[in-house]
Amino acid sequence: MTEVCDVLVIGAGPAGLAAARAAATHGVDVVLVDMQARAGGQVWRQDVRRPEASPARKKFQALQARANLRWLGQAQVVAASPGQVLIEEAGLARELSYRALVLATGARELLLPFPGWTLPGVTGAGGLQALVKQGWPIAGQRVLIAGSGPLLLAAAATARAHGAKVVGIHEQAPAAELTRFAARLWRWPDKLAQAAALRARLAGVPYRGASWVCAAHGDGRVREVELETPRGRRRIAVDHLAVGYGLVPNTELAAQLGCALDTGSAHARVRVDDDLATSVAGIYAAGEACGIGGVDAARIEGEMAGHAAAGALDAARALRARREHARAFADLLPRHFALRAQVRQAATAQTVICRCEDVRLGQLDEHADWRAAKLATRCGMGSCQGRICGAALTELRGFAPSAATIASTPAAPAHGARPPVFPTRLASLAGLSYPAQDATAPPR
Ligand SMILES: Cc1cc2nc3c(=O)[nH]c(=O)nc-3n(C[C@H](O)[C@H](O)[C@H](O)COP(=O)(O)OP(=O)(O)OC[C@H]3O[C@@H](n4cnc5c(N)ncnc54)[C@H](O)[C@@H]3O)c2cc1C
Repeated sequence: MTEVCDVLVIGAGPAGLAAARAAATHGVDVVLVDMQARAGGQVWRQDVRRPEASPARKKFQALQARANLRWLGQAQVVAASPGQVLIEEAGLARELSYRALVLATGARELLLPFPGWTLPGVTGAGGLQALVKQGWPIAGQRVLIAGSGPLLLAAAATARAHGAKVVGIHEQAPAAELTRFAARLWRWPDKLAQAAALRARLAGVPYRGASWVCAAHGDGRVREVELETPRGRRRIAVDHLAVGYGLVPNTELAAQLGCALDTGSAHARVRVDDDLATSVAGIYAAGEACGIGGVDAARIEGEMAGHAAAGALDAARALRARREHARAFADLLPRHFALRAQVRQAATAQTVICRCEDVRLGQLDEHADWRAAKLATRCGMGSCQGRICGAALTELRGFAPSAATIASTPAAPAHGARPPVFPTRLASLAGLSYPAQDATAPPR
């Protein structure tokens, strides 16, 4: 039997929580769903050492007290069509019909492969942060953090708070660019305060610009990091290496729904208008899915989208100026943390690009685009479904995995991202009335 709600919010990060709260204040029936067991998303992820401190906890408790809100935790939306979604929860599937939808699906980390990146002990910067918050033991270990963007500082501060010895933070952007970025922060006092607090928590940890990872070395696990620095190549002994090059919006569900994507930059994002409406009627999007903007933009956009989805456009529009201000901060990030060509050249022909299917960069050389590479090598066809290697190949080879999804329309979803968006049990899908794909449609 298909369940029904007025407003469905997918994602319980800062954007989704704000959307659910705003929609619920208008008395409509709201469902909030997230694949994680706890609400909070990436930035407010539960930290085992500070279970009470999460801002998500208070927001979530207030939400749960509302009779018109239902929470579905540890529940993945694996397929979506206008008006209906398919959710997998504890190995069972359920269908849910909605009147309006808010996509608050967030972002994931951009990982750029280099020799040794698959060694045990090497993770993404945000990946390290998530692991450590969930209790992964790091105390006393030497950790080097590298890549690009403000997330490096946040990951380093979390690792240090859990007892790691952070031996250095290596940012690929030039030091002068970091200074220029810091000089612009006065317009966003919260960000300035956050940056100052992070630097204080990282007192004594070297923060180097124009410095990037060329390779990781070790036998069985990472032992040394090889870095390019303004003073030439250096090797640093480590127990753990965490490398992240910023974030990539999660647009798969939006593409499957036929929502138009903005493809003006390397990684597509969901296109929204000033009311956060997507190109499909009744579907709104908020937060990182609409472009990397940080937690403040996510919260404001979530609130706007929640009001709009509940039909309260005036309440949504009252927040426009705040949104513009928060998004102006987002515009600084690509300007000051633009990736230099060398970080894209660290991978050699022997470097594994697709970890799920064990595909090396050299195997991809003869293919001109993502689809050809995928069909010939199985690159991107493993359990991550190209979320990691697809984004990396966009950077390394200019392949655009999202290009195949752009022509998607509600009327012809088979031309876009195909369901399920995550690997799903056959048993979960059996016997459901979810709209089937057109078997005659050409494959992607
Ligand atoms: C690994 C990582 C660590 C980060 N750490 C920090 C930090 O320390 N400080 C900081 O300021 N910013 C951090 N960020 C940036 C942060 O993501 C944003 O600033 C903010 O959390 C964005 O909020 P959001 O609600 O748009 O997305 P998110 O917080 O990413 O929330 C999206 C939610 O959607 C859920 N979701 C996605 N798809 C589905 C689906 N199909 N079915 C069900 N649920 C789904 C996810 O589980 C997630 O909970 C981090 C980002 C990443 C990727």
